[in-house]
Amino acid sequence: MTFDDAAILAELDTLRAADAPTHGGRVLSYVYDSGMPQLDALAADAARRMQAVNGLDPTTFTSVAALERDVLAFARDILGGEAGTVTSGGTESCLLAVKTASDLWRAAGGAGVGRIVAPTTAHAAFRKAAELFDLRFDGVPVDPATGTVEAAQLIDRLGDDVALVVVSAPSYPFAAMDPIADVAAACAASGISCHVDACIGGWILPFWPQDLPAWDLRVPGVTSLSADLHKYGYAPKGVSVLLHSTRDRQRAQYFATTDWPGYPVVNPTLLGSKSAGALAAAWAIIKALGAEGFASLARTTSATTQALTAAIAGIEGLRVVGRPTGPLLAVATDEQAAPERRVDPHHWADAARAAGWMLQQQPGLTQADGIHLPPTTHLTVTPVTDAEALVAALVAAADAVRGVPPVDAAQVLGALPAQLPERLDADAAGVLLAGIGLGGEGGLPAQMAPFLALVEALPHQVVERLLVELLARTVES
Ligand SMILES: *Cc1c(COP(=O)(O)O)cnc(C)c1O
Repeated sequence: MTFDDAAILAELDTLRAADAPTHGGRVLSYVYDSGMPQLDALAADAARRMQAVNGLDPTTFTSVAALERDVLAFARDILGGEAGTVTSGGTESCLLAVKTASDLWRAAGGAGVGRIVAPTTAHAAFRKAAELFDLRFDGVPVDPATGTVEAAQLIDRLGDDVALVVVSAPSYPFAAMDPIADVAAACAASGISCHVDACIGGWILPFWPQDLPAWDLRVPGVTSLSADLHKYGYAPKGVSVLLHSTRDRQRAQYFATTDWPGYPVVNPTLLGSKSAGALAAAWAIIKALGAEGFASLARTTSATTQALTAAIAGIEGLRVVGRPTGPLLAVATDEQAAPERRVDPHHWADAARAAGWMLQQQPGLTQADGIHLPPTTHLTVTPVTDAEALVAALVAAADAVRGVPPVDAAQVLGALPAQLPERLDADAAGVLLAGIGLGGEGGLPAQMAPFLALVEALPHQVVERLLVELLARTVES
């Protein structure tokens, strides 16, 4: 059989050319560019060598065990813990942390619907875990000015029905470092599991040049920690680590069965058959960079983040949320400014996008106590972020939209019928999307601010259904 590989790859190249750029620092989320093409090439070569391997069985494919052993040894060196697992990403690490804690809680006599106690800012993966494992996510409100949570407010929620407490190092939405030592100590005193979600911080904070309060598995009471290699480990997507304080806790993560007529199944992760490509890429990157290489990239990223934070804080009409920790920050409207001098973060991000810089738009949120978190713009900084060029673009974008009021959600809602049905089927949801100019052929509109206003204004259940429809239609022909 012959095939035209050049033509097939040319078609792929055409598709890829329409993507947001994965290199060069123009996209301030999703992608983590080390700025070292040689490192990318090494990672790609390493992944390719594992293409045909099945990571399901490290006794048959012994290279998989060797690579995982090395990656975990390095991870434990910088993050602590007795044992761990390489997973397919942050979400899987978080899901497994919840599954493990929930199983241990039940084994210790926990009954009824267990709770996950976490600040409102904990990653959405923990709401997903609650849904999947029949737990209740109990979000503790954070301060809208700083995005931080009081340790006492989290500790107040502890009880026999708590399966797991989650704190972040730092939180994704606002880069807030949660009060890990105080919360973990209280958890330890009550025999409650405490997970540190360091998915974003885990591979850069150990090398961060500024002093930080202790936040990893060396903090007494922390029982597990997640850290994504496909973020500041600069690996291709599909690799993260989950570490546990003790080997016995890690064993509780496994699923094993001999109760079927096939091969005995022993899975540390959610997946069965799995790729070892991203694992090999991460392993090669760790070999190449070593601690010194990670530290050097962290220094660059830290300097850029500081410069960027100071410059954004100086833009009239905007404010940096709280005191961000690590290579990320969130930006909100400065309510101290006169209304005609304020900058709406969604208009600002739309203007920056028009100039070729992709910031991430985060809708406002009303917390369980009724206190509203403002809409913000999120920026994740990487070693390639060009602070000077970005600041120039951000200043120009702010100048372009200063004084433009936020989109009035009522106006956008006017495009929707007053009475929305309780359950939307695919056709009805499609009609609603079309009514607000979404879900058609053209992809997303250039201006996202109206859409974000809608996300804020509609009941979660309705907007979540519309988002499902929007995404489902992207892969339907
Ligand atoms: C990225 C991230 C996750 C989820 O990770 P994925 O790799 O996207 O599945 C969880 N928590 C935090 C803090 C993150 O930044």
